[in-house]
Amino acid sequence: MTSPYPLDEARLNNPQRFADDDLPEGSVIDCAAAQLPIDEAYDFVVIGSGASGAVAAHELTSAGFSVAIAEEGPYVRTREFKKEVGSAFLKLFRDGSFQALEGRVFMPVIQGRCVGGTTVVNSAIAWRTPEDVVDEWATQFGLGDAITMRALEPHFEALEHDLNVHAVVDEVLGGNNALFMKQAGAVGLYPTRIKRYERGCKGSSQCLTGCPTAAKQGMNVTYVPWTLALGGRLFCNYRVERIELAGGRAVGVIGSAQSRRDKGTIRLRAKRGVILAASTVQSPNILRRSGVCNRHLGQHFQTHPGCGMGAVLDQDINMYFGATQGAESIHLRASERIKFETISMNPELVPVRCPGLGVDLVRRIGNARHLAIWVTILRSQAEGTVSQGWTGRDRVVFSPTKRDMEHVRAGQVYLARMMFDAGAREVWPGIYGLPPVLTSPDQVKLVEEAPLEPRAYTFIASHLFGAARMARTATGGVVDTTFAVHGVPNLFVVDSSVFPTNLGVNPQHSIMAMSRLASHRIADAPPTLA
Ligand SMILES: Cc1cc2nc3c(=O)[nH]c(=O)nc-3n(C[C@H](O)[C@H](O)[C@H](O)COP(=O)(O)OP(=O)(O)OC[C@H]3O[C@@H](n4cnc5c(N)ncnc54)[C@H](O)[C@@H]3O)c2cc1C
Ligand code: SF4
Repeated sequence: MTSPYPLDEARLNNPQRFADDDLPEGSVIDCAAAQLPIDEAYDFVVIGSGASGAVAAHELTSAGFSVAIAEEGPYVRTREFKKEVGSAFLKLFRDGSFQALEGRVFMPVIQGRCVGGTTVVNSAIAWRTPEDVVDEWATQFGLGDAITMRALEPHFEALEHDLNVHAVVDEVLGGNNALFMKQAGAVGLYPTRIKRYERGCKGSSQCLTGCPTAAKQGMNVTYVPWTLALGGRLFCNYRVERIELAGGRAVGVIGSAQSRRDKGTIRLRAKRGVILAASTVQSPNILRRSGVCNRHLGQHFQTHPGCGMGAVLDQDINMYFGATQGAESIHLRASERIKFETISMNPELVPVRCPGLGVDLVRRIGNARHLAIWVTILRSQAEGTVSQGWTGRDRVVFSPTKRDMEHVRAGQVYLARMMFDAGAREVWPGIYGLPPVLTSPDQVKLVEEAPLEPRAYTFIASHLFGAARMARTATGGVVDTTFAVHGVPNLFVVDSSVFPTNLGVNPQHSIMAMSRLASHRIADAPPTLA
């Protein structure tokens, strides 16, 4: 195998060394320990080192610009990843994973907060943007020929090459994924093995706590170290408070060090532009704190609520082996706005979804090797808002519509049926008002008649969109078709907050392709006047 990147080549030639072991000296400034204040100048400052930020930083560095990446979280190296969920969540996730939406639903919002962003903790699923979504943006949201499949295609191809995208192989399919493939195939859902960013996945089912072998091609072991190898610099444990605007231009970012008492001031000046890639919840609030005004800022937030279901079978499933998420079906994406996926949970998380108390609970936890978990992912129609609460905390308000709930319920009915067809002796619907354990296929009708009250369901939000959407004019959105904030020609937003809608498929690939497209346009554009 060959790689265009020297650091990656080092790992490929020696699997005992990871790309984040071999970073150029002085390329990482850990602001938790650095001497403060800091005041430096670069061509571009990129805020955020996740899917969108790492790709933008890499492309701009490759084009010959000096680039600084500002990242709020720490750089947790591959060698430091631990299976243990509690400490991993505290180190890698925003608010230790306790961030939640407000609204008529209980829905945690899960985001990474570390170098590599959410790609460090995600399942590495790669999906090109569906064509119908790009068409919808062109026609209903007026983007026309600004964002087309043709324009995105070379970026998908380059990313797929760099991050080694391919379908899960037999060796790491595992019982949970294999069972879904069989059952979903039997009911005509045309399941497929998931395509993922990975090199040599060992099937440890541990994607959520960071890949212990760097097989997962998250940004922490790919575009971030590759950027640093090309001369970029990373300021981690550095939270950007605001972007400095002067004379209608972005001139730099200002913020403070994390994880230390004396916060100090860190200013990174931007000679050519600022690239905002802090993710859907944070980017709109950074714009707001920086004085950007637009009536669409913080509006049109969308997500893909995910709702899981568990089943206990007689045979061993052993979901602790296999690709964390390895099988899926998008057959009902258009008609029901839902996608099905498998998911494996770390053992400590199983009790969270395990019904029963006392002896019952202990027995079920003890039988976890018989457990399969599948999920309905909803392309919801509801829109929410992102704002900043009076304590300074990010605030997301969102409530699914009745139609959204009908789609989720339809998905859960499918999953319950497939689980009983597979021979499940227990199905755990996770819907308040239903028995916590269903034991007979006749009881699927209880799921069919389940309440449509969103608070009765157990959701998670991990795919986030909108809140600074793209539109040709400032009356329609926050960002123009060059990815610049309307009225500030060198302040660019390149994450999924610019997406006019959600997608119905996993977003990382679309986010990276859009960011790559944006970066090429930014690199090719003449500098805006100082
Ligand atoms: C558990 C889980 C599994 C997922 N699985 C998949 C999957 O398999 N496939 C897929 O397509 N998608 C998946 N996703 C979603 C996907 O990971 C995200 O959509 C994607 O990473 C978002 O990219 P981003 O660049 O917008 O944000 P992120 O990747 O979250 O990066 C944003 C970065 O900005 C930093 N930041 C924020 N504010 C500031 C600030 N003020 N100053 C400095 N830095 C800041 C953050 O700390 C963070 O590191 C998953 C998500 C989760 C939570
Ligand atoms: S399942 Fe594969 S990619 Fe995920 S953590 Fe384990 S080895 Fe890494």
